Amino acid sequence: MKIGFIGTGVMGAAIAKHLLQAGNELTVFNRTKSKTDELVAAGATWAPTPKKVAEQSEVVFSMVGFPQDVEEVYFGAYGIFAGSQKGTILIDMTTSKPALAQKIAEYGQQREIGVLDAPVSGGDVGAKNATLTVMVGGQEETYRQVEPLFEKISKKVTLFGPAGAGQHAKMANQIMIAGTMTGLTETLLYTKAAGLDPKKVLEALSAGGAQNWSLSNYGPRILDDDYAPGFFSRHFLKDLRIALEEADRMGLDLPATANAKRLYEVMVDVYDLGDQGTQGLINTYTQVEKEQK
Ligand code: NAP
Repeated sequence: MKIGFIGTGVMGAAIAKHLLQAGNELTVFNRTKSKTDELVAAGATWAPTPKKVAEQSEVVFSMVGFPQDVEEVYFGAYGIFAGSQKGTILIDMTTSKPALAQKIAEYGQQREIGVLDAPVSGGDVGAKNATLTVMVGGQEETYRQVEPLFEKISKKVTLFGPAGAGQHAKMANQIMIAGTMTGLTETLLYTKAAGLDPKKVLEALSAGGAQNWSLSNYGPRILDDDYAPGFFSRHFLKDLRIALEEADRMGLDLPATANAKRLYEVMVDVYDLGDQGTQGLINTYTQVEKEQK
């Protein structure tokens, strides 16, 4: 199949590689061209704009950063829609706004172009190991056509409903992650204050009721002082803002998620640590502690 991939960052590059290795013809574009080098060396073709990618492709994936990036790659003068033909299928894997997913789907429907929102969970590790969870919104007929592609990159794919439903499911996922990341951070601070061996604590907790993905994947990185982005904290803050906007729209109060958002705001907006991974939240606590002394 002729596949296009736009946005070859931490997640996109790994996902695109699996699609290439599965025997598909791959055309790629990324804002910073060098981030497509490895894929091109592995057999992909570089195109200079999203429009050119779409012209070459039967299915186009996008996995960029923020909703405004999604707007640009879909609706820009050199965007995906400018190059898509009738029958093309467009899949946005960016974590973005449900309303934007609906806008893209409606625009596509008017042009007989299939559109799915398909954000993922499972982090950089899940992308590398093809063990992601994919949360899909869109028409079932479109979904069935590309289900085999999702199976190449994931261990669990779920169609939740019409356009935007995938993004809503991803927001539910991020509400849970808000709890596990703040829980992990405060668990480690408490462990240190109590004079316990943090490695032993993580190992023990991994086998009990506190076990969770953040603990297993980010706990060891914190102990190694590794704050490189598996998942950029600025992206997580974007997700918490979208989740709370949506909750607000639905008349729902989520005070624990709002608290997590405030903590990540301090990390990203006050301490300028948005390029660290989400595990870097612990640095915000230590920074605040230092300033209070
Ligand atoms: P990333 O490394 O920043 O990747 C995003 C890529 O999109 C970058 O290479 C960026 O180019 C490119 N891009 C952004 N705007 C563009 C545009 N207008 N035109 C072309 N390319 C553009 O981030 P990531 O970790 O892969 O995350 C991507 C998305 O997936 C985010 O929405 C994030 O919230 C979500 N997500 C991430 C994870 C995770 O664990 N990392 C897990 C699930 C979901 P530049 O190189 O020029 O910046």
